[in-house]
Amino acid sequence: MTKLLLAIVVTVGLVLFFKFLGGKRGADRADGERRARGNQVEDMVRCKVCGVNLPRSEAIMSQGRIYCCDEHRRADD
Ligand SMILES: [Zn+2]
Repeated sequence: MTKLLLAIVVTVGLVLFFKFLGGKRGADRADGERRARGNQVEDMVRCKVCGVNLPRSEAIMSQGRIYCCDEHRRADD
């Protein structure tokens, strides 16, 4: 009877241990994906008029040139 209890405790312990390892690996993977997305956002470009650096997603593109705002795009026309 004691051996059976011990076997159950060891089995449950192993299952929880591997679940914990698997969960930690999953969290690391999600963290890496978050970092990769962060790097994409950090792709910086420079305004042609004032030279300020800004994320590509916030830049205004016009005829292959890059501006920080609509005001500078018009100023360069
Ligand atoms: Zn500018």
